[in-house]
Amino acid sequence: MMGETREFKTEVRQLLDLMIHSLYSNRDIFLRELVANAADAIDKARFESLTHPEMAKKWEIRITPDKKAKTLTISDNGIGMTQDEVVENIGTIAKSGTRAFLKLLEEQGSKKEELPELIGQFGVGFYSAFMVAGEVVIVTKKAGSDAPAVRWSSRGEGEYELDSAEKSEPGTEITLHLKEDAEQYLESWKLSGIIHKYSDFIEYPIVMPEVKVNEDKTETVTDRVLNSQKAIWLRKPSEITEEEYKSFYSHLSNFGGTEYLKAIHLSAEGTSEFKALLFLPKQAPFNLLMPDLQKRGLQLYVRRVFITDECKELIPDYLRFVCGVVDSNDLPLNVSREILQENPQLARIEKAVTAKVLSELKKLLETDREAYAGFFREFGRIFKEGLHTDFTNAEKLKDLVMYESMNTEPGKMITLAEYVAAMPESQKEIYYITGEKRESVASSPALEYFRSKGYDVLFMTDPIDDWIMQQMFQYRKKNFKSIAKGDFEVEGAADMLKAAQEKFAGLVEFLKKALGDKVGEVRFSARLTDSPCCLITEGNALSPHLERLFKAMHQEIPESKRILELNPKHPLIEAMFELSKQSDKAPELEMYAKVLFDQALLTEGSPLPDPAAFAREVTNLLLKGISGK
Ligand code: ADP
Ligand code: MG
Repeated sequence: MMGETREFKTEVRQLLDLMIHSLYSNRDIFLRELVANAADAIDKARFESLTHPEMAKKWEIRITPDKKAKTLTISDNGIGMTQDEVVENIGTIAKSGTRAFLKLLEEQGSKKEELPELIGQFGVGFYSAFMVAGEVVIVTKKAGSDAPAVRWSSRGEGEYELDSAEKSEPGTEITLHLKEDAEQYLESWKLSGIIHKYSDFIEYPIVMPEVKVNEDKTETVTDRVLNSQKAIWLRKPSEITEEEYKSFYSHLSNFGGTEYLKAIHLSAEGTSEFKALLFLPKQAPFNLLMPDLQKRGLQLYVRRVFITDECKELIPDYLRFVCGVVDSNDLPLNVSREILQENPQLARIEKAVTAKVLSELKKLLETDREAYAGFFREFGRIFKEGLHTDFTNAEKLKDLVMYESMNTEPGKMITLAEYVAAMPESQKEIYYITGEKRESVASSPALEYFRSKGYDVLFMTDPIDDWIMQQMFQYRKKNFKSIAKGDFEVEGAADMLKAAQEKFAGLVEFLKKALGDKVGEVRFSARLTDSPCCLITEGNALSPHLERLFKAMHQEIPESKRILELNPKHPLIEAMFELSKQSDKAPELEMYAKVLFDQALLTEGSPLPDPAAFAREVTNLLLKGISGK
């Protein structure tokens, strides 16, 4: 064959122009692309060798920098190309050799499991070579054919040249004449760094010759393998050792350390084919709640080639403690993140990953409750965000959340299912109270009635609980009800309350006046058994706890008026009522009213507006009590 010059197709010319002039942000990826192509070519040859054993050999990808010539050569002993194939594959886009190969296999009716993982769409990877090279030369020889070797070369400027070439072994050799500003790609540390980052898990050895100068000034060249070749996520779980899991986990983990709670393998077929290896971590890092410091997302590989870290599209935010790898078979090896974001495949993967993680958590809860509780203590507050954001999985998430409750020992948690199972028949709703910490909610007077009835009350003490409960209406057809909010009805108590409201009307009026705009309402309630009073929030108002949080964040929020509920059976109410009949005792009664109100604030965990005044009044009362005056 005589040398000849041909023109690139228009789209190719446009693409090359882009590569040469605009894509400078991450030039390292050219090596990833060429190595991926080499691995694909070996995949194909290896596949052929299944039926033509004489084609089998020691597969290998070779990277050879030549500092004198300023060239970098990437070669493989894979399938190679005929002249027609070079023209078709390299001179055209939208018509991928990989795709054509698959079609061929399909036509031959090959069995699916024999299919090498090559499901590529049209690619543009090869052209990325022009980001770093002023001239690219391909010398290639097709395996299993008599066709002569071909030489293809181009400066990327609209034309390429074809010629015959000498090459004894099948395979492809791509030589890049590096641009002046790309000479860093001659440095072995640079090359091995890129391989380690992007191509570590390529199945075939990627070797680079290393020159050592001996004492007698002679040189010894040894091959160094740059990649670990361990695509652990593609292997059978039964063949992976604990040690291998651990070392991979520490390689990946956002949390450091080698201890993980559970390794999860996921293999999906059908509309989107991918394999994943995910880890549930054991311990939360110190920066768990600082969104900016926390890595999110999973690593994304496409056919064993690293694409990106922290791919947020692969897993919902509320599962951001999960770390791992997703290796997709059908995403293109594309250059830009933008394309990934719009790709519907990612949404499908996210859905499958989410379902898998949730089902594994459920399994853990059912089989190792202790471990699950430990997990939930560490990551529950993040996990619960899902109740607010993932409505499609709402019911599954509700099965997985845990809370402490009035009836649990401090530190022990129960699930909603366990709560419901323990409900006495007379109990119709799921009761909860929100607050800062167990100690403050556990002593709330609002619990008294429930304790007397034998009903349990969930303690919701994460800052996020208040926020979530605004959306969580039911679990297994039972309504959630805050015991410190809104109206409260006890069967058969209506008459008693009405009577009290009438009998103590004078006291109620007095209290309203004495407390002024501190309270919106003063009323009687059957909620209390031991305490004289408590503070309640209107049904749709923010809880006091949430109100404090918003204030702490300097958020403007509408001031909600509290309701003071009184216990009609408490002797103090009776006594204050008696006192209210004596008009000369008004100042004294007013002081009692304020102490009572402050007490109610204290029991719900709210700060006092004037602690010193409260202490003074209590001291006076003590003195009075002791001296009997
Ligand atoms: P993609 O890999 O997505 O198909 P590329 O632009 O990276 O797109 O490569 C285009 C085509 O060129 C490949 O599909 C393949 O047919 C061919 N090719 C590239 N590199 C090699 C190689 N080292 N050996 C054999 N064929 C190759
Ligand atoms: Mg490619």
